Amino acid sequence: MMATIGRVIRCKAAVAWEPRKPLSIEEVEVAPPKAHEVRIKVVATGVCHTDWEYLYETGKGMTFRPFPLVLGHEAAGIVESVGPEVTKFSPGDKVIPLFLPYCGECVRCRSNKTNLCRKNWANTQVGILADGTSRISCKGQQVYQFLGVSSFCQYTVVPDTSLAKIRSDAPLDKVCLFGCGVSTGYGAAVKTGKVEKDSSCAVFGLGAVGLAAIMGCKVAMAKRIIGVDINSDKFEKAREFGATDCVNPREHSKSIQQVLVEMTEGGVDYALECVGSPAIMSAAFESTTEASGTCVIAGWTETESMDVKVIKMLMGRTLKGTYFGGWKSVIDVPNLVDDYMNSKLKLDEFITHNLLLDEINVAFDLLKSGEGIRTVIRLQDSEEDKEPTTTTK
Ligand code: NAD
Ligand code: ZN
Ligand code: ZN
Repeated sequence: MMATIGRVIRCKAAVAWEPRKPLSIEEVEVAPPKAHEVRIKVVATGVCHTDWEYLYETGKGMTFRPFPLVLGHEAAGIVESVGPEVTKFSPGDKVIPLFLPYCGECVRCRSNKTNLCRKNWANTQVGILADGTSRISCKGQQVYQFLGVSSFCQYTVVPDTSLAKIRSDAPLDKVCLFGCGVSTGYGAAVKTGKVEKDSSCAVFGLGAVGLAAIMGCKVAMAKRIIGVDINSDKFEKAREFGATDCVNPREHSKSIQQVLVEMTEGGVDYALECVGSPAIMSAAFESTTEASGTCVIAGWTETESMDVKVIKMLMGRTLKGTYFGGWKSVIDVPNLVDDYMNSKLKLDEFITHNLLLDEINVAFDLLKSGEGIRTVIRLQDSEEDKEPTTTTK
């Protein structure tokens, strides 16, 4: 038995004390898991655009979330201990924590039309667990858990319905990307969009979400996959993932939807928005073919609206949104891991940088400058490292 079980763990975390300020590396205390909760040792975490947005755009594109906060929601780790009534996990299991739960019992979990389980939703959205508190504290103050996950911390506690158990040979510093960006983009194409063989597709935004969407279009055997980005440096990688053409809207005097409609003689069958900008969402919708085009919105904004011209909709286009790529988180993520292990899906190619937790603000710079696709942050010296310091409460 781990000596840490039932004790408070002292470890390192990147704490966001207030909006629009860099993260600060602190020693934090992580309490043991309560009923239906699991404490995990976080081994690796990706840094997603959404983490940046909640820190720097909170109160603007994003609704306000309480601070101080530990961000991070794209991770993989190892179960350290389980709380009472946890039946599906044991210490040592490799896992991916999830910001989208799957309880398996509610109406939505039983429906094949949606993946939006609402178990613990209200509390995790404001950074707390089922009992109304978080398990992380710093300097005697409660620190909120971002989307109920908080992977910018060496240990975290998540509900047992927000955790996927994965195969024991999966490399955690790669499969962490299934915790958000890659699952979202890939699912936007194959699950929500249901991209068809021989179709034409346009993917707007060539970050991790967009590249994963291209990967999905390719797996679905689309004939034409057009990558769109204002940063032409992204094109080489997009072609590696399967883009057949790449377009920079800034190099055209016409609108991007006009350019795409002309390139495809009437518009694409599928447009996937992976930027998070209402103007691009409208452009993506209008770049689809009338009568049967489908536009999937994967980019995230919580407070803004997009403009939809009624006549464009009347002509038979479909507009859809995707949350976590439409995947039923707990049951689908282990299958995505298998697909990666069987070389059906790429992951390594998304990772442009590997950094340590102390360097986490650099990961935000790399994301914002467009220099990086995904930075993977390593939180432990090794997967099997020594036990952390503990305290009795
Ligand atoms: P990223 O910052 O790595 O990539 C965004 C890309 O968009 C960049 O390459 C950038 O150059 C490009 N871009 C910016 N403005 C553009 C424009 N006007 N036209 C074309 N391209 C433009 O971000 P990411 O991590 O890939 O995330 C992309 C979006 O997906 C974000 O909004 C993020 O919050 C969202 N997201 C949604 C979900 C979900 O469940 N729906 C999950 C994860 C991320
Ligand atoms: Zn994310
Ligand atoms: Zn459910």
